[in-house]
Amino acid sequence: MSFVKGSPLMQTALRRITTVSRLPLPLTRAMHIQSIPMWVGSSNNYAYLVVDDKTKDAVIIDPANPPEVAPVLKKAIQDGTINLTAIVNTHHHWDHAGGNKKLREQLGTPNLPIIGGKDSEGVTKTPAHGESFKIGENISVKGLHTPCHTQDSICFFMEDNGDKVVFTGDTLFHGGCGKFFEGTGAEMHKALNETLAALPDDTRVFPGHEYTKSNVKFAVSVLPSEAVKSLQAFAEKNKETQGKFTIGDEKKHNVFMRPQDPEIQKATGKTDPVEIMTKLREMKNNFS
Ligand SMILES: [Zn+2]
Repeated sequence: MSFVKGSPLMQTALRRITTVSRLPLPLTRAMHIQSIPMWVGSSNNYAYLVVDDKTKDAVIIDPANPPEVAPVLKKAIQDGTINLTAIVNTHHHWDHAGGNKKLREQLGTPNLPIIGGKDSEGVTKTPAHGESFKIGENISVKGLHTPCHTQDSICFFMEDNGDKVVFTGDTLFHGGCGKFFEGTGAEMHKALNETLAALPDDTRVFPGHEYTKSNVKFAVSVLPSEAVKSLQAFAEKNKETQGKFTIGDEKKHNVFMRPQDPEIQKATGKTDPVEIMTKLREMKNNFS
C-alpha cells in the first residue's frame, strides 16, 4: 500500500504523524534536487541541480565554480538523465554568478539561457517579481524579488505535485540572513517577513551557503529558545543542513523572522520591526 493510495483512515493517521514530527514525511513524491557543494571548508557555497522527472528538463542554480559543477552536469547529460535548459542565479555576486560564461564554454552550450537578476554575468532573462515559468512539464517556478543583500537578489519558489521549495541565495539562510551589502533593514524586513513569510509554511528552504552552524551561535546568544537550541543540535550533528528546514521552521528558529518576539525586542531594545532588523544585523556583524 502506498501512502497516496492508502485508506482514508491510514491517510488521517499519517497526517497526524506528520503534524507532530519536525521533518514531515511527504505524502507526495519530492522534487528532484541535487546539491553540489562548492569551496567546502572556505565559503561553503551550494549549487543546486533541479530536474523535472518527466521530461528530464533541468536548471542549474548558482554554478559559480565550474571545476566542481561541470563534471556533474557533463556526466548527467552523457547518461541522458538531464536536459539542461538554463542557468539560474539568485544574485550577481561572483560566488553565485561568476561561473556562468565559463560553464557555458565547458559544456559547449554558448546559448544556454541565464535567468537571474539584472547584474548577473551574461544574464539573458530577468523574471519580473511574481512572474512564473516552468521547468519541463511539472515544476512551476516563481521569481520573488528580494532586494537587500544585492539589489538584484531573486528567490525562486518552485512547486511540483504538492512539493514546495524555495532557493534563497544569500537572502535567507537557516537561522540567519545575508548582509545588507546593497540594501536596508526595511528591505530585508520586507524580503523575509513579508515576501518569504507569505510562502506556505511547508516550503523547504535551500540557501546559497552552509552557514547554519555559525548563524546559530549568534541566534542562541539572542534567543536561547527550544527551537533555536534544536537547530543548534542539528547543526552540530550534520555537516549539511540545506533543505532540512522549512519556512515554518525559520519563523520559529530564525531571529531575523521574529520581530514580534518579546525576547527579540528586549535583546535589541527596539519594537519597530524595521529597527529590530537593522539592529539585529548590526549585532550579528559585530558578533564574534
Ligand atoms: Zn552574496
